[in-house]
Amino acid sequence: MAFEGLSEKLNATFKRLRGKGRLTENDVREGMREVRLALLEADVSYKVVKEFVATVTERAVGSDVLDSLTPAQQVIKIVNEELTNLMGGANAKLSLASSGPTVVMMVGLQGAGKTTTTAKLAGLMRRQLGRRPLLAACDVYRPAAIEQLKVVGSQLDLPVFEQGQGDPVEIAQAALRHARDHGNDLVFLDTAGRLHVDEALMDELKRMKSAVHPHEILLVVDAMTGQDAVNAASSFDEALGIDGVVLTKLDGDARGGAALSIRAVTGKPIKFVGTGEKLEMIEPFHPDRMASRILG
Ligand code: GDP
Repeated sequence: MAFEGLSEKLNATFKRLRGKGRLTENDVREGMREVRLALLEADVSYKVVKEFVATVTERAVGSDVLDSLTPAQQVIKIVNEELTNLMGGANAKLSLASSGPTVVMMVGLQGAGKTTTTAKLAGLMRRQLGRRPLLAACDVYRPAAIEQLKVVGSQLDLPVFEQGQGDPVEIAQAALRHARDHGNDLVFLDTAGRLHVDEALMDELKRMKSAVHPHEILLVVDAMTGQDAVNAASSFDEALGIDGVVLTKLDGDARGGAALSIRAVTGKPIKFVGTGEKLEMIEPFHPDRMASRILG
């Protein structure tokens, strides 16, 4: 699971601080140097680490912390709060339409887990909110992609709308009409992925965005790719505008750099995390729980 190395290092630092009893400003600064190194080793982006350490240090060297009876505990509490803030504070929910079907555009690079996540998320919305989702196959370039969506859809017994290899924007519009006609209140558009962010892909996604006015554009990125995931989030956000991120493969990510950097770098929240290959393995992302787990 994510953050093993980071957890271990932070805990070693805090154990040392607790062992000292009273703390001087120097003790705190020394501890923060270790925190800084631990975050960098976890592949958190440099600028994010710098700002994080500055914020925590500023709060922690105050006399109310150093003069308290449990200064190390206070420092840990501050780190916990600032880690939570770093990841966006509160859990960010999917925005739902007030009337008519909610349209969610799922975007991302090939292999990030977009198709799997589309089905997982639709299943979660049905389980948790009693929604009636429709999956729409808008990745028309690879016949295997349409087939894959049908496979995961049928595993969860979710309807899949497809029109083979036509124009993805027209398919998206047709899917919306289909949803209205069949009482589906949530439409997930599984869009095309490429190996890299390129102009043709972004043009197609922009065309789809202006044709269907999605309530939500969710970017799927692979946690295991670390800073590449953060860069993908920045690129998609600049070119298309995203509302949130789904971070997949957290189960295989030992470091956690993407989880800790994405919100701070892009300003966009991680809304859900993928925690395994099985189609039930998706969870809403709670920054406070994640921070507590890191410090756990
Ligand atoms: P796409 O090309 O972005 O549509 O990616 P796919 O949906 O085909 O997923 C690529 C691979 O990642 C598949 O083998 C999925 O089973 C796997 N995958 C997706 N999400 C997760 C996850 O949260 N954890 C793990 N371990 N594997 C995942």
